[in-house]
Formats: sequence, C-alpha cells, structure tokens
Amino acid sequence: MIVQQPSCVDDHESGALPVDRALHNVLDAVSTISAYEQVDLSEACGRTLHETVFARFDIPCHDNAAMDGYAIRSGDIPDQGFRELTVIGHVYAGQTFTGLLQEGQCIRITTGAPIPEGADTVLMQEHVNVVNDTIRIGHRHRAGENIRRAGENIKQGEAVLKPGKWLTPADIGLLASLGIAEIKVRRKLRIAIASTGDELYAIGERRANGGIYDSNRHSLRAALTRADIEISDLGILADDPAILMREFNAASQYADLIISSGGVSVGDADYTKTVLQSSGRIDFWKVAIKPGRPLAFGSLNDCIFFGLPGNPVAVLVSFYLFVLPAIEKMLGIGEKPLAPSFSAISGEHLRKKPGRTEVVRGIIERNPNGEWQVKTTGKQSSADLRSMSRANAFIILEHDRSDIEAGERITVLPLAGLMV
Ligand code: AMP
Ligand code: MG
Repeated sequence: MIVQQPSCVDDHESGALPVDRALHNVLDAVSTISAYEQVDLSEACGRTLHETVFARFDIPCHDNAAMDGYAIRSGDIPDQGFRELTVIGHVYAGQTFTGLLQEGQCIRITTGAPIPEGADTVLMQEHVNVVNDTIRIGHRHRAGENIRRAGENIKQGEAVLKPGKWLTPADIGLLASLGIAEIKVRRKLRIAIASTGDELYAIGERRANGGIYDSNRHSLRAALTRADIEISDLGILADDPAILMREFNAASQYADLIISSGGVSVGDADYTKTVLQSSGRIDFWKVAIKPGRPLAFGSLNDCIFFGLPGNPVAVLVSFYLFVLPAIEKMLGIGEKPLAPSFSAISGEHLRKKPGRTEVVRGIIERNPNGEWQVKTTGKQSSADLRSMSRANAFIILEHDRSDIEAGERITVLPLAGLMV
C-alpha cells in the first residue's frame, strides 16, 4: 500500500497516520531473530537471554549467619535476666566448624559462615557482652534470629531467568552466583546506517558553500552503540538512484535492519522512495507527529528498512519512537528495567494542535514544592539539535490534546530511560 506522499511543509493532517497506528504497523511487520550465540559472562551484560536458566543448587547453599556475632542454641536464651555462655571456637566465612555445640556454649561466627551443628540462632555481636572466653546474653532474643536459610533466595531446580530477559549487572552477578560461566544470548542485531543528501559533508572534510556536515549518522551511531548491536556504516550517499539502489541492496544481504535519513519527503532530490518502491516493499507514511512526519518503512529482500526524515531532531524522535521499539522486538527483549514515562506538571503554557502527537524537548526538574515539573527547552525547530541537546526528556503531547495550561499534567519520557 502506498500512502499519500508526505511533505514537511504541507500543514494538512488529513490522512496522516496516528502515532500508535504507525507503531502498531511497525511492530506487526518485524519479528524476533531466532539465532543465538554462547557468550562468556563478561560479555553478556546488555544482551538478551535466549535460554531458561535453572538453579543447579540452593542459594544460599547452606544455613548461614546474617550478622557477625555468636552462634548459640536457642534453648540457652534465658527466660529473664542474663546468662553466660562459653566461647568454644570460631567459624569465619569460608570455613566450616567441625564438632557439635553443647548446652552453655557458643561459637564466634562471621556473616556468611555456615551455622555450626547444634546451633540454631545467631546473636549480633553488638547485643552481647564479651568477657574473656565467655559472653553474657540477655533474654530479649528470638529463637532462629539472624540466620539465612539454605534455599531461602533460590531453590535448586528453580527457573531463575527466562528467555527475553535483557541482562543487567545484577543478572550477571546472579548467574555468577549460580556458577554459570557462559550463557546463550540472541545474536547481535546487524544494523546498517546511511545519510543521504548531496549537501552533506563528512566531518574532517572541507565544507563547500551551501554544504553542511552530516550529523545524523553520528547521532544514530551513538544511539545504536550498545552491546547487542553491530553497526555497519554505509557513509554519506549521494541523491542518486543508482547509488542508493546499489548500496541499500548490498546492505540488505547482511543487515537485519537499514536505517537511512533524508530523502523521504517531497522534494526534487528525494530519490529514496523511487528506489525503494522499485526494489522493495516500502510504504511512505505521513505520520501525525511533530517532528518526524515523513517516515518510510518496509522491507528490502529480508531486511527491514527505515527511512527517517532528514532534519536532525526528527531523526532522533523517529528513532526513539519507532525504530527502537522495532529493534527491541527483533532482539526479543521481553523484560527491561525501565519506567519509560510518567506524568509531570507543565511549568508553562504550551500551544498544541489536536490531531497529531507533538514531541517537545523538555527539562524536568523539581519545583519548590518538590514535585516534578517540566519546561520546554525553548524554540522547537526540528533542525536545531541544541533544542534536544539541552533536554533531559521528551514531553509527549498526545494526539487529541489541545493547548496545555501551566500547572496541567503532561506525559514525560526521560531520555535516560531510552538510552539503555
Ligand atoms: P531531506 O528530508 O533530505 O529534504 O532533509 C531535510 C533537512 O534535513 C534538510 O535541511 C537537510 O539538509 C537536512 N539533513 C538531511 N540529512 C542530514 C544529515 N545527515 N545531517 C544533517 N542534516 C541533514
Ligand atoms: Mg535530502
């Protein structure tokens, strides 16, 4: 299906695709890669788990002390007043105590050390008085206190992590605690990036009059620099159908995803669509969003293709709203440690046209009442990267909303949450 050709200057929203529909269409069209690889634990953070991890033993693997102190028999806790117990030895973490604790005795113990046979309670060292080889204990203790039980965290045979878990530092530690040195994760996603436009110069080149430096490839590369992605840079491509055809076709042979910028709106040099419509199954959408209205999406051979707008802010907005969710689905990420959006108080009056989603760059901070408040970064040109560089959040003004009064609640999407 070919939707009406979009344009940056055309201000009519009729026929434009609402953001949630566009995202739905994107997610519908991409599928999760099935290939995986076995990696060392040191390379597994930020990758997505491909297998179910079962515990091969209990954690903790033995009853152990939760505190530094003294292991005692609970029967020795006096009903009232005090009692003295003889210290007959010590057991430090990593050791085991051989022998049986008898009535009237105790053993010095450190955090993590196995509970000696006969003992069933640990008294914190701060709660006893030590006099030479004896300790004096009071009656205010509970039988069984300060002991971490074998298997109380994880039981042998339990499924600890499931496929689709995006691995965090805590997961890596958890896997290590289970003695696991290597793990199956989804293979890295192969992504090719390109900038299109005759006006573009690579940084380091001498820029001619009328030329600009290519920034989109650099912001995209930076946004894609993560453990689960392999980037291939196609460079700056001229507005030449033969070149675009050749480069995109070649990249589609090895990449899972191609992301290009520029050349998707109506303009004399907008060849991307001509090329892609002849060699792939690409739709050109007019999305009801500002910025980021023109968006090309589809497939080329077996590769997913995103043609993002040229304007630098629009590139990042479309990337985070449409490309990143597609990447996460392709990687099969089912569980990720983020709360991507929340509501905050608008610190100012905002103009908003109903009928499109507006993505405004904002700065969230606490107001004097301690509430989260957000203000815009000022002028919101989609060509002005500084409006985004200053921001710590996107303000999402939903499709149906109109002007927002200062003090109204609005949705914010902290940028930090998008960057893992
Ligand atoms: P286009 O969609 O190709 O017409 O591009 C829209 C605007 O974005 C034009 O002003 C382009 O010069 C600019 N632009 C396109 N690609 C880039 C790029 N890679 N880096 C910086 N600006 C770009
Ligand atoms: Mg262009």
